[in-house]
Amino acid sequence: MQHVDGNALAGPFADFFSFDVTTATARCNGCGSVGELARAMVYRSGAGTVVRCSTCDHVLATLVETGDRAWISLSGVSAIEVRRG
Ligand SMILES: [Zn+2]
Repeated sequence: MQHVDGNALAGPFADFFSFDVTTATARCNGCGSVGELARAMVYRSGAGTVVRCSTCDHVLATLVETGDRAWISLSGVSAIEVRRG
């Protein structure tokens, strides 16, 4: 199978990342539980935002923002499910 470059992600990823994150469900890499992100524990500080699993306290995601940039890590999540429609 031939590949294309990452520019091909523009359409599908733009569609995917335009969802309401609070209605999405995520699977925790720490304990395997699946739940709505709205039920996660969120800690906000001047350094950024840390999202932790409400079942096992594993870090699901981190978000760091500066004036003109943002970094997100979803390394604690094995999958995110978004319902369409
Ligand atoms: Zn967990």
